[in-house]
Amino acid sequence: FEKLTGGLKKTRDSMAKAVDSMFKSFTKIDKELFEELEEILIMSDVGAVTAADICEQLKDRVKEKGITDPALVTAELQGLIADMLRGGEALKLTTKPSVILIIGVNGVGKTTTIGKLSANLRASGKTVVLGAADTFRAAAIDQLGVWAERANVPMIRHSEGSDPAAVVFDTLSAAKSRGVDVVICDTAGRLHNKKNLMDELNKITRVIAREAPGCDLEVLLVLDATTGQNALNQAREFKDAAGITGIVLTKLDGTARGGVVIGIKNELQVPIKYVGVGEAIDDLQPFDADAFAKALFG
Ligand code: GDP
Repeated sequence: FEKLTGGLKKTRDSMAKAVDSMFKSFTKIDKELFEELEEILIMSDVGAVTAADICEQLKDRVKEKGITDPALVTAELQGLIADMLRGGEALKLTTKPSVILIIGVNGVGKTTTIGKLSANLRASGKTVVLGAADTFRAAAIDQLGVWAERANVPMIRHSEGSDPAAVVFDTLSAAKSRGVDVVICDTAGRLHNKKNLMDELNKITRVIAREAPGCDLEVLLVLDATTGQNALNQAREFKDAAGITGIVLTKLDGTARGGVVIGIKNELQVPIKYVGVGEAIDDLQPFDADAFAKALFG
């Protein structure tokens, strides 16, 4: 929790403190208070749609509970945001093997996240094998190799430019013959050509369906919180192009734009599974809606 609080410091300082002191500057709860709240939320990268949703729902709650003191609204807001963020946080990895596909544009933190996630799963007693299916850049394969070593998990690789689906095939074969619990596959971070991306992901998921029929499959979209509204846009685009089951939001530690988490969950209704709060191997946290809201406002 300390790491989360530390990671969210900038967001708390800019968003939550502004909200709290704004509430306290009002003597009664009126239209202006909600208008100012909406403005602060939009400035904090929550997004216009979600900012309006929050104000509407908060108005209802305040009315329902008969709250008249503006200073008490912060606690209501915290509860509302926790409710909005809650649901579907845990990965479903019950089959052997289970598969996690990691998607997202370059630079958002995919490789780092795979390394952290591998270590995380290993710590929970699961065995892991990585598939270096971002074959587009040799550097991506090498970099994933470094994280595989750090997390002490094996990695299946082919040469640069080879077929990503073939890498996934080999990774699944290795997992099955070694009795590995979880297969994590990197993918190339292209969005500029949606059709390419969809074709590639479709081919990969067909291989998974054939080689590990009925397996639990998580498709995790990695987004960089420091990009604010851009992360929200990427989430929209990828949701159209790929059947994502969850979001990993990285680099929360370096940004005042953590409010984007709320916008992504509310608008897309895709669960947030993990947040990245640093560059080290243990800086990935399973998402906890209550802890998140508490770290922001508590
Ligand atoms: P990829 O291109 O998507 O695979 O991105 P990388 O995994 O190579 O990460 C890009 C940069 O972001 C690297 O310098 C990482 O150390 C950094 N990074 C990744 N996740 C986090 C995070 O949660 N917090 C911080 N501060 N940096 C991160």
